[in-house]
Amino acid sequence: MAQEHLHISDVNSMQAFSVNDMLITLNMEGAREFTKISYPIRYGQYHEIKTSEFIYQFNLNGEIKHIQGRTRDWPHPAEWLKRTISNDWIYYSVGSYNDVYDRIGEYYFPCLQYEKSPFFKQNPFDFKVIQKALTGWGEVIDRLRSYLKNTLPEPLRMFIAQTIAKDGKALVKRAEELQMLNGERITILPPDTRHVDYEVIPVIIAEGCRYHCGFCRFKTDHPFSQLSRSEILDRMKRIRSFFGSDLPNYNSLFLGQHDALRADHDLLTFSAHKAYDIFEFSRSHMKEARLFLFGSVDSLLEAEDSLFNALNRLPFLTFINIGLESGDPKTMDALKKPIRVSDVKRTFFRMLEINRRYEQIEVTANFVLGKDLSENHYRSILDLARKGLDRYFSKGAIYFSPLNDAASKPELLRRFNEFKRLNRLPTFIYLIQRL
Ligand code: SF4
Repeated sequence: MAQEHLHISDVNSMQAFSVNDMLITLNMEGAREFTKISYPIRYGQYHEIKTSEFIYQFNLNGEIKHIQGRTRDWPHPAEWLKRTISNDWIYYSVGSYNDVYDRIGEYYFPCLQYEKSPFFKQNPFDFKVIQKALTGWGEVIDRLRSYLKNTLPEPLRMFIAQTIAKDGKALVKRAEELQMLNGERITILPPDTRHVDYEVIPVIIAEGCRYHCGFCRFKTDHPFSQLSRSEILDRMKRIRSFFGSDLPNYNSLFLGQHDALRADHDLLTFSAHKAYDIFEFSRSHMKEARLFLFGSVDSLLEAEDSLFNALNRLPFLTFINIGLESGDPKTMDALKKPIRVSDVKRTFFRMLEINRRYEQIEVTANFVLGKDLSENHYRSILDLARKGLDRYFSKGAIYFSPLNDAASKPELLRRFNEFKRLNRLPTFIYLIQRL
């Protein structure tokens, strides 16, 4: 690339620099609490490069994190792209505000690059301007690289050196590294991680799952096994190094993988305590640490009050998500989920009890939604989430996971809206995301 002649001016005491047509601002301060609002918001600390076409934002490791368009081609001025720590791009769409909020409990609908949503006609990643944004930041990196030949103010030189080291190839390697540190990829995040915009530090403490259900596309082949304390500590220390300078932007933990609640209860609380210290959540830029994990019907039924007493005392707000799927035996057979519906019912009422008794714990549940499911399936859910409750409760969300039948969107939405109206618990669609 031809060498650019640089005009650098220090706009704001070594924090903002005008470099030709780019405005580079370092250490910007975003919100310190996750919040649900209908305009774009950024969290924690970050760096930014503004050009006439795009705003590029980088985490404190110099890795691209958000892109927002500034021209009329951009689909909506309040929408943006986010890159996850596992190098997936997500487009945050406003949809039509009320619908999105009613369906998912958030003001923005995350459209995934790797999977088309059954709820959107158009895939934003097909738009030319989105494709340009995704290639454009590579061009910005090339420009920054050429600037290093000049004499630069030290903070700017450091930012540029850090950022050019995190080009596209480096980010692919980083994602592979995180996967290696955890032994496998996080194939699915709990739906409750939406409360922190899916920004969690993932640590797998137990692999495999209990049931190996036929319908599930996220299961891993191996049987359930848990790591030892020393393996978990070693894993956490390596993951801490991986997050590096960006660690203070995190205050939430996902203890994976599919049924961490089944791990020995001492191991589970040990892991949560150690993670809080090792990841320095008390010093995070973000307030209110949260812990997320999956459980199963049997692991919730087996867990005694002593576990919930211990979890309730942790310095986290804890969310435990359980796959119930259905209260109808034929549907369970069709899903090839080997649990009795009597246990599903017991789990549902145990969930309500835990939510009532423990202020710092919220247990949530998933049911399936699909066009070929029987009326008995739908009736069985209403028997629990409507008839089983004498009033509306705001704690203990019910999530509906659409089965793999994208063509049946109107039918799925009709069913979902019916549940939303009749259930006496907060009811949302489960937007499945990996990490
Ligand atoms: S639904 Fe849960 S328990 Fe069943 S196979 Fe998937 S991960 Fe395992």
